[in-house]
Amino acid sequence: MHFYLTTAIDYVNSRPHLGTAYEKITADVIARYKRLSGIETHFLMGNDEHSQNVYKRALERKMDPRAYCDQMEQEFRAVWKQLDISFDDFIRTTEPRHKAAVQKLAQRCFDKGDIYEGQYEGWYCVSCEAFKQEKDLVDGKCLLHPTLTPEWIREKNYFFRLSKYREPLLEHFKANPGFLRPENRRNEMLRLLESGLEDISVSRAGQLWGIPLPFAPDNVVYVWFDALINYAAAVGYGSDEARFAEWWPADLHIVGKDITRFHTVVWPAMLMSAGLALPAQVFGHGWVNFGGQRMSKSLGTSLDPSDVAARLGPDPLRLYLVKEISYGGDGDFTWDRYEERYNVDLANNLGNLVSRLSAMAEKFRASRLSPAGSGGRLAQVAEAALSRYRASMDALALHEGVAAAFQIVDAANEFIAETAPWSLAKKGEAGRLDEVLFEVAEAVRVAAVLLRPVMPASSAEILQRVGETTAPDALRLDRDGRWRSEGVRQIAKGAALWPRVEEATETGRAGSAERTRREEITVEDKPAAAPAEPARITIDEFMKVELRVAKVLEAEAVPKSKKLLKLKVDTGADQRTIVAGIAEAYQPEQLVGRTIVIVANLQPAKLMGVESNGMVLAASPEGGLPMLVAVDPSMPPGARVR
Ligand SMILES: [Zn+2]
Repeated sequence: MHFYLTTAIDYVNSRPHLGTAYEKITADVIARYKRLSGIETHFLMGNDEHSQNVYKRALERKMDPRAYCDQMEQEFRAVWKQLDISFDDFIRTTEPRHKAAVQKLAQRCFDKGDIYEGQYEGWYCVSCEAFKQEKDLVDGKCLLHPTLTPEWIREKNYFFRLSKYREPLLEHFKANPGFLRPENRRNEMLRLLESGLEDISVSRAGQLWGIPLPFAPDNVVYVWFDALINYAAAVGYGSDEARFAEWWPADLHIVGKDITRFHTVVWPAMLMSAGLALPAQVFGHGWVNFGGQRMSKSLGTSLDPSDVAARLGPDPLRLYLVKEISYGGDGDFTWDRYEERYNVDLANNLGNLVSRLSAMAEKFRASRLSPAGSGGRLAQVAEAALSRYRASMDALALHEGVAAAFQIVDAANEFIAETAPWSLAKKGEAGRLDEVLFEVAEAVRVAAVLLRPVMPASSAEILQRVGETTAPDALRLDRDGRWRSEGVRQIAKGAALWPRVEEATETGRAGSAERTRREEITVEDKPAAAPAEPARITIDEFMKVELRVAKVLEAEAVPKSKKLLKLKVDTGADQRTIVAGIAEAYQPEQLVGRTIVIVANLQPAKLMGVESNGMVLAASPEGGLPMLVAVDPSMPPGARVR
């Protein structure tokens, strides 16, 4: 069983921006997941060099285009290395193997009668390197490049009979619902196919930079027709037929949503014409915006992934892009949001968990943990997370896969807060302490195995610290992602994996004393873990959560806290204190007498020194203020909500 995965190849007229890096990172996560699953994987990336923009850029720099491309290849490779992208092959469209494939495929289409000579007249966006129809332009400009004026081109061209493949393509789409994902892109392409297809120009006349058409060498192959063939060229089409037979068709093309038409209409039609099998699946990912703006070099809203990775390391960036953006949709990057997620997910949650484990193991058990018991609640959480992880990753819901791994992290942190190992030690409950520490260590180990595809270096470091002896590249999900109740664990200590970053405004005054204080807090308090996306639960599981109506009797601000209010509520059965993070939305006096909904059976927790017994339900829109969930005021305290 093997898996052939590709990304779009990139124009080398400028360095990759964060959006380009997003595509490579997500593809890398998929490739690493397949390898972790024991599937032989071939992961292809590359550069698209036969672009007129590349040619112009080289001339501007007074460089030979080929030498310019050599230099850019080094720059691209350096960025991909910095981001830990594990491609198996890197193709350049100026390589002989690519030229051989392009000429072979073009000749096949020509022999089939699908390429003919004609006259092209129309708009051309140089930045897209694409022919544009009048209906594609807004105010005479390309939608993606509103600062440029498209060129009017009139030249003798060779055309590909794309129109002939409309019916076969429609049939293919209908027979293979998974051919294009996500669903909204598929619907878009179906509408396009249903509205009809026009033949496309596949050559440019009078240009020097490109691959000559074998049957008309005065013309070079149009850069898109040329570029798409890289996927076949890389595995031997036209140069190594045995290898091609082994690896073709590709299992998955990862591409940006703006080029799904090329990959799911033009490319399959080319393959049909040449008598080749179609790729199993194309996935059109969304865009990463920068502060709400589309990232684009020509618009000046671009971010260099090297700069971002240099700030906090490649793994936090990889995690952010995979976890915070639901795969297939658009996402956004801002420095504030990035640092906030870093603090929550890594500094406070996962990093803190690893530090607490090694500190407790050292303090209570000289860093050697022995198996005790067969694993309790955390073992169940880890098993459930593993199956959810697999289902999500197999369905390319990468964000959900990562969230599943973080469920284990969240549960382990909660488990420590509940079992309070330091007080077990104080009370001399040695057997229970053994169980708790071993269970936490095992939970961390399983989480690190699941996080291996998204945070390869950090995962390896964590695995080494919790005494995993299998080499990271030899890890297998089937064997190593399962809960183990045996084997002594030698826990290693190390520096904090992800020291907190302070808010920019605090940087000046947040000295080392401030940092130490925060770290002390996180060792014993429950960390501010991000709630992972919930899995489906049964009605029985839901009924474990006791939601009840309560009446607010008193409300006051919690000193030194911007967000917290201390409420005294009547639950029908008792009067108790609940701390709620709603101070930014409500004045204390507004709340007295209100009928609210609470979680009545939540474990008590201390927040800013106040013990909270339960939780108030409120709706919190993204970026907005929380609003209390209301019930009719006539409802008596204690009434069950379900
Ligand atoms: Zn354009």
